[in-house]
Amino acid sequence: MTAKTPILRINALTKTFENFTALHGIDLNVDDGEFLAIVGPSGSGKTTLIRILVGMDEPTDGSVWLRDKRIDVVPANKRPTCMVFQSLALFPHRTVGQNIEFPLKLRGVAPAKRKERALELLDTLRLPRDYYSKRIQQCSGGEKQRVALARALAFDPEILFFDEPLSALDYRLRKTLEKELKDLHRRTGKTFIYITHSLEEAMVMSDRIAIMKAGHFEQIAPAEEIYARPKSRFVAEFMGEVNFFDLVNGTASDVTMSDSAGASLAGQTGTLTIRPESLRRLGEGDSADLSFEGVVEAEYLLGSRVQYRITLASGREMGVEVLRENAVPGGVGASLTVGCDLKAAHLIADAQSTEDTPNAAA
Ligand code: ADP
Ligand code: MG
Repeated sequence: MTAKTPILRINALTKTFENFTALHGIDLNVDDGEFLAIVGPSGSGKTTLIRILVGMDEPTDGSVWLRDKRIDVVPANKRPTCMVFQSLALFPHRTVGQNIEFPLKLRGVAPAKRKERALELLDTLRLPRDYYSKRIQQCSGGEKQRVALARALAFDPEILFFDEPLSALDYRLRKTLEKELKDLHRRTGKTFIYITHSLEEAMVMSDRIAIMKAGHFEQIAPAEEIYARPKSRFVAEFMGEVNFFDLVNGTASDVTMSDSAGASLAGQTGTLTIRPESLRRLGEGDSADLSFEGVVEAEYLLGSRVQYRITLASGREMGVEVLRENAVPGGVGASLTVGCDLKAAHLIADAQSTEDTPNAAA
């Protein structure tokens, strides 16, 4: 897959609105058949980017390529790609069939052929065929979403773009549709580019995640890599709860290092990044590469796991999460020692120190 020409290439794309720059010369390659999620906080430029990709807006600078064809200069209705809006964009008074066939009608496909395709798509989306003549108003939220997907697939687009299609739905329906979208991706083999502000949604569905911040990509990588080796504090925090310790020349306050960990980190400067769930409780005689002594400040039960907020010697707080069977006896107010292996702690080296010391990366 990686050796092939990417299906979509975004080259130095910039978008400026009057005096505000929403996209700062971004680059991205998307593989044929990939499920790419673009994740970022509100206002980071996700919708601006996708609007340009589907032809609803023009870039200020840069280009977009579909294989070897430049498409940022092609009108939206002439592009072999498609955008999926929330189900709200369906025609509520028309039937499911009319909605699915709409893009085919626009392209001048004959009625019999359109109906055949619509019925085929009802099968693909696992909706009963008699929904063909049902009105959109009579469909449930989940069914509407499936009809919107069927309509998006109607003319067999090369790439499907989604802009937060599930954000208006309730939690349970969202969870169901996340899985259905992933299955649909697998069944159709199409390229999906999916925007969301929900990292959880991105993790469930995608092959790669692009983390967007203020009009540029902070990191583009598979979910596990972004989680384990974030490039910046921003990415680390976006990926869930995390503890940061400033490492200056190999030492960090509140962190006790074993001899070997001390030797590995000697001379390095950056941010030690430790997930609460990487920490374990250390009993009498237990040791770890990195250890921390503190007092339990608060305790939260999360089903099979327990989360603690502990206060360290310097007064700073730290998050710890352990299996319930390893819960701290005494709970709030109890003293404890926690620790982890050095390989569970990721070092985000300062840009400066990476250049100074070639071996800085953990
Ligand atoms: P996201 O989808 O990630 O929430 P948007 O792409 O909608 O973010 O917006 C990115 C930034 O660009 C925001 O600061 C927004 O206010 C600004 N913006 C978007 N569209 C316009 C516009 N038409 N005119 C001026 N500013 C805009
Ligand atoms: Mg948006």
